[in-house]
Amino acid sequence: MRIIIGLTLLVFSLAAEAAQVAVHAVRYWTAPDHIRLVLDTAGPVVHNLFSLDNPNRLVIDLENVRLDSRLSDPTVSNPYLKGLRSGVQNGKDLRLVLDLKQPVRPKSYVLPPSGGYGHRLVFDLFESQGGQPRQPVVTVEQSIKGGLRDVVIAVDAGHGGEDPGALGTRGVKEKDVTLAIARRLADRINREPGMKAVLVRDGDYFIPLRKRMSIARKHHADLFVSIHADAFQDKRARGSSVFTLSRKGASSEAARWLAERENSADLVGGVSLDNKDDVLASVLLDLSQTATIQASNDVAHQVFGELSRVGNTHGSRVQQAGFMVLKAPDIPSLLVETAFISNPDEERKLVDSTHQGRIAGALMNGIRDYFHASPPIDTKLAAMLRGKRQAATGGNYPTESNEPRLGQTEVDPSANGRQGQVTEREKPRFPFDG
Ligand SMILES: [Zn+2]
Repeated sequence: MRIIIGLTLLVFSLAAEAAQVAVHAVRYWTAPDHIRLVLDTAGPVVHNLFSLDNPNRLVIDLENVRLDSRLSDPTVSNPYLKGLRSGVQNGKDLRLVLDLKQPVRPKSYVLPPSGGYGHRLVFDLFESQGGQPRQPVVTVEQSIKGGLRDVVIAVDAGHGGEDPGALGTRGVKEKDVTLAIARRLADRINREPGMKAVLVRDGDYFIPLRKRMSIARKHHADLFVSIHADAFQDKRARGSSVFTLSRKGASSEAARWLAERENSADLVGGVSLDNKDDVLASVLLDLSQTATIQASNDVAHQVFGELSRVGNTHGSRVQQAGFMVLKAPDIPSLLVETAFISNPDEERKLVDSTHQGRIAGALMNGIRDYFHASPPIDTKLAAMLRGKRQAATGGNYPTESNEPRLGQTEVDPSANGRQGQVTEREKPRFPFDG
């Protein structure tokens, strides 16, 4: 009899165990404005989340879940997390307690398996309202007050964090390669007189596509360059490609901007759309998009030409596609597939620092050629180039030797008037100014 009871208990506990979902691990990602905590689970999980204060804690209850390994602790440098504790509840549930350094605003969701990861439960923790923003944002007023400004290039390293992007046959992840090349490109841009880089992503964390665009807009970028590495089933596919936004992608985005303009304080090309009637708003938007697409194609053409000098190109010209990150209506944007990570030969090159430097150099050359031909009118670069041209044609503008150092002396961009040899095109993001 005792044996039968023992067996029954064993069967029951095995059944309970089988029904429980295992948590394998926890991963932490730190982004500039939030941290992400990811639980790797054996299957979908039902969870409940609540905050406690004195001291600040976040409690995560997971139904019918067990731990099958020890969860790692957050690092000491984690901006929001002090520690992670776990305990069993009701004999079958798991409770996780996050000890916090400050109150947070949590968001949670479930992710299905993808990109080499299995089921995941994701927690994004943002600084709760009232806290000090950790990254001060430069406003338009501040950037204009300083007189002439730098040409701003937003450099966007594709993917990141939970999204590894494409994977090479040796396990190289697209997100790592794109960040390495983006950082090299940003370094080069920052060494160029009159230019400044903004890294849209500067670490291993995920940024949604629309957020990438809005980071570029917040910094008043003159150009948005998204860096990727391609993948294809045929491992022989190779070479780099450059994409700009297709006309179809632009018109679907225009529809979205027009539909949402009442609820949005966003400016397009420096102009608000929300007080315009439908026809005027759509004409303004279309003008901005047309100028932006034209500028995008010009710079993409330069970049493609430079890339073809350092290696193979995939296809013979710049291509058009509806990629989300290219859709800002007033920032010329391009997406560069640097090489095929699925091609073992190119995968090897993509992690080679010399080759990364070559790609960054090619991108820099294309970007420089474009902006030297068409500097935005209110920039130091425009003033500098005008000064050089004046010197070359014998004008009394500062010559090479007595030219004011950039950023120290203001050069009035209007002092020179619009004479025959001044060929600056209007900055594409303000096609309907004045
Ligand atoms: Zn990609």
